[in-house]
Amino acid sequence: MNGTIFDIKHFAVHDGPGIRQTVFFKGCPLSCWWCHNPESQDVNPEKIVRINKLDGQEFKKEVTVGYQISVDELYKTISGDQIFFEESGGGVTFSGGEPLTQSDFLFEIIKTCTQNGIHTCVDTTGFASEKTIKKIAEATDLFLFDIKLIENKLHQKYTGIPVDEILKNLKWLDQNNKNVILRFPVIPGITDTEKNISEIKSFIKSLNNINQVDLLPYHNISNGKYARFKKKNKMENTKPLSDDDMNKLKLEFESLGLIVGIGG
Ligand code: SF4
Repeated sequence: MNGTIFDIKHFAVHDGPGIRQTVFFKGCPLSCWWCHNPESQDVNPEKIVRINKLDGQEFKKEVTVGYQISVDELYKTISGDQIFFEESGGGVTFSGGEPLTQSDFLFEIIKTCTQNGIHTCVDTTGFASEKTIKKIAEATDLFLFDIKLIENKLHQKYTGIPVDEILKNLKWLDQNNKNVILRFPVIPGITDTEKNISEIKSFIKSLNNINQVDLLPYHNISNGKYARFKKKNKMENTKPLSDDDMNKLKLEFESLGLIVGIGG
């Protein structure tokens, strides 16, 4: 079975416990205004023009972003780092894009890793059918689950999809004692409003088994990428929050008794 991915990052330390290999799946049903990886949204491989500069001269090269890979080939790459996983309590993280959009491929690669003693983690928006969530939850060790905006209208406006299914899936994982670390992208003027933060805190309080949330600061690093993919960056002039503001937010979430990290 083949899947489509666009990158593999070795020795990642922010995508779950220990040292990890992160596999980036191509394809995402969301279109968040702040997306750092616009190359992840289309499930198909895409051609872009990369510009390299040397001695003041520009060299243009057409490259394809995204490629097909089989479960066996991907497992070979993942298992190449197994020694580091074992030493550090790490493993593999499937990210994207949205890995649940290729759920059959995801299930097979998780199964192969688990059979070979490799810890697996799925970094997800949570937007999937109940059937898919349940199937992957039976297979993986951990979810990194994004929580962005609680109000449906705002979620629809800033991500392109409604939030109901996502919250329902999160509740199901919680009620069924699955391991979940929440991730909250702190986007200035969009997700960091008093109202949204208060609603997120209330939602977390209504859950029983969540004890960790990572706050993901917004970075304006993707202008070049948006230009290469001929997409408009709606957040072009947005400034990131200061370290002080991030620390204040950390204290606010810690007051709920949660373990809170900054950065994923
Ligand atoms: S969910 Fe992630 S990958 Fe998908 S559009 Fe949003 S930020 Fe980008």
